[in-house]
Amino acid sequence: MASAPPPSEPRVVLVTGSTAGIGRAVAATLAATGHDVVLHGRDEERAAKAAAEVAEQTGGLTDSVACDVGDAAAVSAVMRRIYQRHGRLDALVINAGIHAAAPLGLTHHDTIDRLFQVNAAGAAYTLQSSLRLLRRGTCPAVVLVSSMMGRLGGAGQAVYSATKASMIGLTLAAAKELGPTGIRVNAVAPGYIETGMLASLGEDARAATVAATPLGRLGTPADVALAVAFLLSSSASFITGQVLGVDGGLVS
Ligand code: NAD
Repeated sequence: MASAPPPSEPRVVLVTGSTAGIGRAVAATLAATGHDVVLHGRDEERAAKAAAEVAEQTGGLTDSVACDVGDAAAVSAVMRRIYQRHGRLDALVINAGIHAAAPLGLTHHDTIDRLFQVNAAGAAYTLQSSLRLLRRGTCPAVVLVSSMMGRLGGAGQAVYSATKASMIGLTLAAAKELGPTGIRVNAVAPGYIETGMLASLGEDARAATVAATPLGRLGTPADVALAVAFLLSSSASFITGQVLGVDGGLVS
């Protein structure tokens, strides 16, 4: 768990995909700094377990919800539940996502559909259905977790890269559209971060990645969590429509 300055008052925040990896670190970092954090995952039981663990680890207040972010109706139902329990959202982290790698020409259409459904459509469903809650929040802010692949593209990851680029387009447009209502929208673009998503990276590829990274290491979920916490905080109150690389210098 990383440490960030405490917020001046408790803020209600939803972090999608926070049963593991980056989302879990974001949830723990925000809970430790006084936010009331709603954790989320695909599975009700896993989300509740993660929320209980984060509350125990941080002493913060947590709640949990569950749905497949690729299911628009289920996402709306989750937002209604948050309205009933909390009445508002001050912050939203759109983090839930999946990865798949395959060369062009060999990417099954089911894989293409699912990547777009979860990463691209899921982000849009989440943002759109959260707006009424965010409008009731104080200094509302949204952070989308894109990827360096969405900025640079990655050979063998064309479809994943396209879905992550779509999140950047969503961020830039939403910042313009929602700015006048006081809602800030930014994105982070992580590089290689040590989570389950990197499990398929072999030893040689791992060594090559570290060698290519100016800061000489892979990132941690806490590295991303601190960047997200900054973008949600009042320290970033004049920042919107930005894509912050958290990649050790891989993209510059
Ligand atoms: P992870 O697999 O450890 O965690 C993914 C989380 O998303 C889990 O909580 C999972 O339950 C949730 N999730 C997945 N599909 C879902 C769905 N359909 N509905 C609801 N929840 C769903 O992965 P991670 O590395 O922590 O990735 C988090 C985000 O960061 C993803 O959007 C990913 O694309 C992005 N990212 C990761 C890296 C990396 O190197 N790990 C790099 C750049 C971007």
